[in-house]
Amino acid sequence: MNDFSVMSLRNRIAFYYTITTTLLIAMVFTSIYFMVEKVVYRQFDDEISNEIAEILEESHISTRNFKGFANIQDIDNDDNDRDSKQINVDNDFVQLVNSSGQVMSKSASLSWCALAFNPNQLGTTYFNSSFGGSMVRQAQVPLITNKGITEGYLIVAVPVKSALIVLHDLQDIFFFSFPAIILTLFVFTRLIAGKSIRPIDKVIATAEKISQTNLDHRIPFPYHRDELYRLSATINALLDRMQDAFQREKDFTANASHELKTPLAIVKGTLEVLVRKPREREHYETRIQFCLKELNRMARLIDQLLMLARYESSKINPNIQTVALFPHLESVIERMRPSALTKGIAITVDHADNARIAADSEMLDMIFENILSNAIKYSPANSSIAIVVQHTATTIVCSISDQGIGIPEEKLNTIFERFYRVDESRSSSTGGFGLGLSIVKKLADLQQIQVSVTSATNRGTTFTLTFPAQEINC
Ligand code: ADP
Repeated sequence: MNDFSVMSLRNRIAFYYTITTTLLIAMVFTSIYFMVEKVVYRQFDDEISNEIAEILEESHISTRNFKGFANIQDIDNDDNDRDSKQINVDNDFVQLVNSSGQVMSKSASLSWCALAFNPNQLGTTYFNSSFGGSMVRQAQVPLITNKGITEGYLIVAVPVKSALIVLHDLQDIFFFSFPAIILTLFVFTRLIAGKSIRPIDKVIATAEKISQTNLDHRIPFPYHRDELYRLSATINALLDRMQDAFQREKDFTANASHELKTPLAIVKGTLEVLVRKPREREHYETRIQFCLKELNRMARLIDQLLMLARYESSKINPNIQTVALFPHLESVIERMRPSALTKGIAITVDHADNARIAADSEMLDMIFENILSNAIKYSPANSSIAIVVQHTATTIVCSISDQGIGIPEEKLNTIFERFYRVDESRSSSTGGFGLGLSIVKKLADLQQIQVSVTSATNRGTTFTLTFPAQEINC
């Protein structure tokens, strides 16, 4: 793990922000500096340009129709015309050179030295150069005869010391203020970032306190409805679901233990009574039969618990294949027929011959078995159970209707929960544990089969299985 990955969030926010701002400020400072520099030099260039125009006018020199240095020498030395024709250079430096750079004439301010001459610059050019140890801005203007020959150059320079001081000061301001701005920015950003993400500390502190024993703790919501608010809401919703799941697990274990404890206690009590004194053979037989019945009930419960555990583990994958619905129904009905016959219950099937669905055969059988055995269990003697299979435009729908005791409407939503029995007395008399329908629901979900139920008390119940449209293969 590198140092950066262990950096705190607020430091990282401050760091990224400062880097970005540093780049921006550097760009702005540089642009400002170059713009000021450009403006300053443009002003100098304008000044020099005006100076040149004045010089040319006053000395009657034409840069396009240059008549030779003799004229200039003449003008300079002509005492009569001196006042009107001598070059007026003010405080600036003026110099005339011939085409090979030899100084032909220069202003008094240049008495002891000469301005730089650049033979490679052909047209009028402006550039910086140094003169007498200080910087000057200078222009070099070619003097061309009417035959197009460059006879020499007029060179004019102005001192730029004051401007350079301004530019230097500007550089200094930028140079010293830059780190100060960056440092201040980093400190402030870190402070603000720390303040903004403080709710995260609360989330962490609360999350650290939550364990299996105090799952009812919740993250306090931050004031602003921002991402942190959503994070808190999401964690709270997750905690709700976890609490729910833990509660269901606890209930399940308590229910399973309770269901197993009762027959165990009955068997234990019966056997303890039996061993107290010798009894008639018939008495033994009846008591042992009774114990066997209880043990069978326990075995059934354990089977159902194991089945639920198996199907609730995420690793189970249904073996979905295209199966013909009717043969499956037939085989389940055949297995159920003996218990139906003992109650005189008739099972009728109205089916579409070619109904084929995508399902796991074993799981499908278990679904039908559970629904049918309930229909038989909760139906009165001599009633009937009707199974109807129908094609709709996109689905195959199979309904199983009985004429039994029915389920109250307000309880229809809960009958698929584990260990839920509508009425303890009616289930215990039929030997149910309230697990059958939760197994049905789990198996149906695994195969994407929809299960729904409608019922009317004392008139009957209908369970409907809807098989998914895209998996129909007629
Ligand atoms: P059990 O093993 O107790 O029957 P189930 O999970 O199969 O458990 O069913 C849950 C409850 O739903 C049952 O206790 C019963 O009261 C009710 N029930 C299920 N099917 C029917 C039905 N066809 N008619 C009336 N009640 C039913």
